[in-house]
Amino acid sequence: MPLTLLANWKLNGSKSFSQAWLKDFFVNYTGIEISSIGIAPPSILIDELVQNPENLGIAIGSQNIDQFLLGARTGEISASMVKDAGGAFSIIGHSERRILFQETNGDISLKLDLASECKLTPIFCIGESNDEKQQNKTKDVLKNQIIEVLSHCSKVQGLIIAYEPVWAIGSGDTPEPKEINSIHEMIKDIVQSHFSKLDLQAVLYGGSVNIENSTSIFKEKEVDGALVGGCSLKGKDFAILANIFNKTKGL
Ligand code: PEP
Repeated sequence: MPLTLLANWKLNGSKSFSQAWLKDFFVNYTGIEISSIGIAPPSILIDELVQNPENLGIAIGSQNIDQFLLGARTGEISASMVKDAGGAFSIIGHSERRILFQETNGDISLKLDLASECKLTPIFCIGESNDEKQQNKTKDVLKNQIIEVLSHCSKVQGLIIAYEPVWAIGSGDTPEPKEINSIHEMIKDIVQSHFSKLDLQAVLYGGSVNIENSTSIFKEKEVDGALVGGCSLKGKDFAILANIFNKTKGL
């Protein structure tokens, strides 16, 4: 099963936070499937979460990787380093990286290739801004992001795409579930028609997913899972989300 439910801790966490999170998660999680669940903690906690005996199989990944494997790149972390620490995936092109760190589609293509080269599952984030949504440009923007990024990749494989409308991240707002479904369908069609050799494993939705709204989002056929920020910061809440996901998808 591909990765389906991913926690993005952003700039939150510590060793003691990780310990408590794992305890809370496993006390409350009722499912059997575990390898499709992932946490992207700050990179300094990857090793802690991989090695922790209380982690009973949750995949650990990074929130970002550099677009090079080595060199004079002070402060950066490479795909091979994440792999070496036991990481299984990397989030790439999150809108906070694009906006706060000026990451471009070109950088993202390089990162997707490096993730695949180093055997990390790439989680490629795309999404429209509020202005673009207001101007009814959502589908064009997403199509451009996909084509511009993937047409410059030569090695990417086993890709997961996360559809994350920028205006929905951390805002409490989400698109209507039916709209999310139709966008996911479009994303799958674009990848299939332009990059048929690329093995697209799943399309996840991200942006203000919480315990209250998750059932209606997970009910949508083309929603294969979710990338979750705020609601992933408590192990108990994330376990409840995972339980809802399993129930809704009949797992
Ligand atoms: C995210 O940043 O990837 C995200 C989905 O955040 P939130 O769930 O807090 O909107």
